[in-house]
Amino acid sequence: MSAALRLPVRSGVPVTGAVLEVDLAAVGANTRRFAALTPALLAVVKADGYGLGASQIARTALSHGAIGLGVTSVTEALALRADGITAPILSWLNPVDADFGAALAADVHLAVGSVEHLDAVCRAARRTRRRAAVHLAVDCGMARDGSAPLAWPALCARTSLAQQAGLVEVVGIMGQLSHAGRPRHGASQRGRAIFEWAVTTASGHGLTPAHRHLATTAASLTDPRSRHSMSRVGAGLVGIDPSGTTLLDQVSTLVAPVTAVRDVTAGTGVGYGHLWRAKRATRLVTVPVGYADGIPRRSGGRAEVSVAGRRCPIVGGVNMDQSVVDVGAIEVGLGDPVVVLGGEGPALVEWAEWAETLPHEILTGLGARVARRYDGFSQDQP
Ligand SMILES: *Cc1c(COP(=O)(O)O)cnc(C)c1O
Repeated sequence: MSAALRLPVRSGVPVTGAVLEVDLAAVGANTRRFAALTPALLAVVKADGYGLGASQIARTALSHGAIGLGVTSVTEALALRADGITAPILSWLNPVDADFGAALAADVHLAVGSVEHLDAVCRAARRTRRRAAVHLAVDCGMARDGSAPLAWPALCARTSLAQQAGLVEVVGIMGQLSHAGRPRHGASQRGRAIFEWAVTTASGHGLTPAHRHLATTAASLTDPRSRHSMSRVGAGLVGIDPSGTTLLDQVSTLVAPVTAVRDVTAGTGVGYGHLWRAKRATRLVTVPVGYADGIPRRSGGRAEVSVAGRRCPIVGGVNMDQSVVDVGAIEVGLGDPVVVLGGEGPALVEWAEWAETLPHEILTGLGARVARRYDGFSQDQP
């Protein structure tokens, strides 16, 4: 890695408030771990790279062993292209009237899970005179996206005709498991069996793509039989292990400066409705992060942050723009850093517990006011 560079996400805008420090060296280490587990790794950078910055996570993953990128919408894929990323990109969640022509013009691969989607992609291929690279998607037991197994043979037959007509080239078959991380669960056994049957059925229709991918982060870590020729990994790259089996490198640290310090007497009420009252004389500090920045309001009464290396509770509820912290007798000055998440502060999984949600929701929920800053950015990018 080259020397650390720090880049605010919106260059030119000075950073004065909360900052999410993203450790790209940790993203690189996580990427290498997953790349070693699977024949090929597709780095999933949907939802702005799980809230951390899609292009930065993408570039880092690509320079540490990922062979391509996965996103939901064509819009997300085009944003990566506009940022100069030339690696293969697969987009898998689009309405039937999405701009598939723009996707083909930008060489974006498309998941196809229904005859309607296939026809829309074929129309775009005719219009733009470009052959569409598609990944056929089969529903392996989530009842969410992908072709139902019953409809799969017909989808394969029609896709095979479209391939013979030069409109599409099937480059992949994809599925997803409902109980990833629990390889022996009946739903996982059924899901794997459906996927294998779908690959065989496609092959009977002359569709034998190089990429067959079923595993996400949890299955990649726990279920070798689901790995096939490629895994699609997002959460794991940013340090989240949904299977709870593996210690991944932690990537994100949210730090906010103290914006107010006050010593209060016993009985002082804090915030709207005096949700909390000081039982003793104490010192309160204010930090400029609230629920509009993704600090879950429902974590109020439980959440803590780290001030001068010590855990201190958020009191009086999480407000839209700010939170008040009871620091007791800790000496704190205006501008001192408060570690809200990661680093010496509470881990992502603690926040998820306090808010009764997943770490994914905490990360992807961090708001636009929180500046993203990148450490360990490698210069030798594709
Ligand atoms: C989000 C997503 C992934 C990545 O899953 P992780 O658990 O974050 O690794 C893979 N495939 C599809 C279709 C997804 O929507």
